[in-house]
Amino acid sequence: MTMSSRKTLKTRHRSRLVPPVWKNIAFAGSVFAGLLLSFCAAMLFLWKPNSQATSRQQLANTAILAPAQVKTDHVTEPDRGTTFYKLGQGQHLASFLQTHGWSKEEINSSLAVASTQVNLKKLRTGMSIGLSPSETNPRQVTLQLSHTKDLKLRTDKTTLETTAKTVEYPVTKKKLHYRGLVQLSLWESAKRAGMPPALIDQLTDVFAWQIDFAKQVRSGDRWKISVERKYVRGKPVGHGPILAAQFESDHKKLTAIRFPQSGDNARYYFPDGRSLEGLFLKSPVRYNRISSRFQRNRYHPVLKRRRPHLGVDYAAAPGTPVKSVGDGRVVYAKWSGGGGRVVKIKHNSTYSTAYMHLSKYAKDIKAGSRVRQGQVIGYVGSSGLASGPHLHFSFYEHGKYINPLGKKFPSANPIVKNKMKSFQQTKIAAMSHLSVNTF
Ligand SMILES: [Zn+2]
Repeated sequence: MTMSSRKTLKTRHRSRLVPPVWKNIAFAGSVFAGLLLSFCAAMLFLWKPNSQATSRQQLANTAILAPAQVKTDHVTEPDRGTTFYKLGQGQHLASFLQTHGWSKEEINSSLAVASTQVNLKKLRTGMSIGLSPSETNPRQVTLQLSHTKDLKLRTDKTTLETTAKTVEYPVTKKKLHYRGLVQLSLWESAKRAGMPPALIDQLTDVFAWQIDFAKQVRSGDRWKISVERKYVRGKPVGHGPILAAQFESDHKKLTAIRFPQSGDNARYYFPDGRSLEGLFLKSPVRYNRISSRFQRNRYHPVLKRRRPHLGVDYAAAPGTPVKSVGDGRVVYAKWSGGGGRVVKIKHNSTYSTAYMHLSKYAKDIKAGSRVRQGQVIGYVGSSGLASGPHLHFSFYEHGKYINPLGKKFPSANPIVKNKMKSFQQTKIAAMSHLSVNTF
């Protein structure tokens, strides 16, 4: 509407330089233009209250219904020349757009539509926001809601009508492997291999039942993993679960293959089909050293007298997460004298475990809570009678203390017969990708 009026204004301007006969035509033209302008203004006035409702309707179809003006040649494509910025801490989208020269009206229209799609109060700090060049019409703001999803809002500068479109990007996967040679520690070797921390944790979780990574890993050990890397828009966005892993230490080689035996619940198995998972984890915490072992007769450093030490002390930094070594139910999570903050877990009718001197309990850990193996139940501290931050870990068999370090516990279920064929196929594919014999 405004565009046609702009054109007619230009015509009027030019008319001063042309012969009188044309002036009459031009005059008639300008009268017509004036009428058209008033008509447009009236239409704008009439249509204004409805435009937002129309936008919402368009939104529901998540399609861009381009206003007629968009088709004209001097309108630039808003996707072209988009510049991306990061949303600052505590910054609202409105103030962000304002600092980038958007008018109050443009912001209001854009945000009214955006709020029907996302919670504007919960936009992440650091979120990427793309803005079209200021001269484009419509103006576009692109909110990168996630790796795979964009919300594009286009606001027409003249009608102030906003349309929205969500764009989903597919995730593509590519298999790759990482390998490492331990010089100082597993973490150092994994870092050198370019592996992100989350994947290092996954590797230690895969072999958590076989290898005590804080104690048994030494210089010369070798490892490799096969994993899928995910890509969106050609950029890596993280890894999937480890598909196969191998750890070689002291000429002993352990191989783990991921396989979903029941539904989506994939676990790790040895090539012969035995489960890698034991009933209990090797240790409940990532520790620096064992500061005191299970002893029936031991000199207590704080009490300064002989007293049995019926558990294992793991020295670890305060705040280190403490994990339940097995599935079970919390018997109690409470202050218990010299033990300080203690969590006791019953795993089955035979075994229970207790975790002492915690600095705090994990969320939702209280009497009666169900816990899974490896679930964080609290954090290392020095509450109660403790000479420094450590975890005192006790193991009970039929209510009596046992030494967990010297005990062989049963394993989880192996691959069942009717799944063996499918497992073999997974194994062959995994092993060939891992190229098992060449470290
Ligand atoms: Zn102790």
